[in-house]
Amino acid sequence: MPNRNLRTVKLTPIALGICEACKAEFQSKQPIESDAEAEITFQFNDHKCEPRVAIQNPAPVFLGGHSEK
Ligand SMILES: [Zn+2]
Repeated sequence: MPNRNLRTVKLTPIALGICEACKAEFQSKQPIESDAEAEITFQFNDHKCEPRVAIQNPAPVFLGGHSEK
């Protein structure tokens, strides 16, 4: 199972969720005060990521630090 995260964007009055792995969007029909987040989470869990859209780190990030004194 691929590691994927759901980002919930709260756009009043409609909530929007985005899969960070494949950028799929899930829109709730409910107001944010209702079960919008649960509905979006359900859609997110039910969808399948498109592997060809999967994004990988294009370049390695150099974490070593040279602090000059
Ligand atoms: Zn996805």
